[in-house]
Amino acid sequence: MEIDIKGMKIPYTITRRSHQKTIRLRISSGGVVSVSTRKNVSDEVISDFVRRQATWIYSWFSKRNILPKTRVERGNVVSNEYRVYKEKAKDIALKKVTYWNSIYGFVYKKISIRKSETRWGSCSRKGNLQFSYKIALLPDDLADYLVVHELCHLCEFNHSDRFWKLVSKTIPDYVDRRKKLKGIF
Ligand SMILES: [Zn+2]
Repeated sequence: MEIDIKGMKIPYTITRRSHQKTIRLRISSGGVVSVSTRKNVSDEVISDFVRRQATWIYSWFSKRNILPKTRVERGNVVSNEYRVYKEKAKDIALKKVTYWNSIYGFVYKKISIRKSETRWGSCSRKGNLQFSYKIALLPDDLADYLVVHELCHLCEFNHSDRFWKLVSKTIPDYVDRRKKLKGIF
């Protein structure tokens, strides 16, 4: 489906789920618009709904200076970015993990870079650290926070008070940086 707002053509996908009660519209950080709703909702009802959000959708794109994309188009952009940034991302992740872990002294195994757009990083129970290639696109202070966050999961596999206390040892303003990082995705 597609909506035309002031000449801006905005494609969107529709997902119907049996367990969902309401209609929801989401715009991903990369500019992909998707609508999800319960089963049996007609395309007309959905396009009316999208039309009512037109002002908000239009300002979302104008504010960020991003062009609307389909999922496939966005997939290609991510693949390209991944190719371009994965080496730099690996380099940044290695340096930052080495630096911050010289303070913490935890034990980790592998560090790898993923083609993920929806997750900044993760830490597996086996002690492997993974980061999105997008770490290469982050401002330094947020990349530091991200690395420290995942490192601290080597010790605390949760988001308990103890976990945040560990994070705050090196990133006292972690609340602020966490908020900023969330705002990027
Ligand atoms: Zn976490």
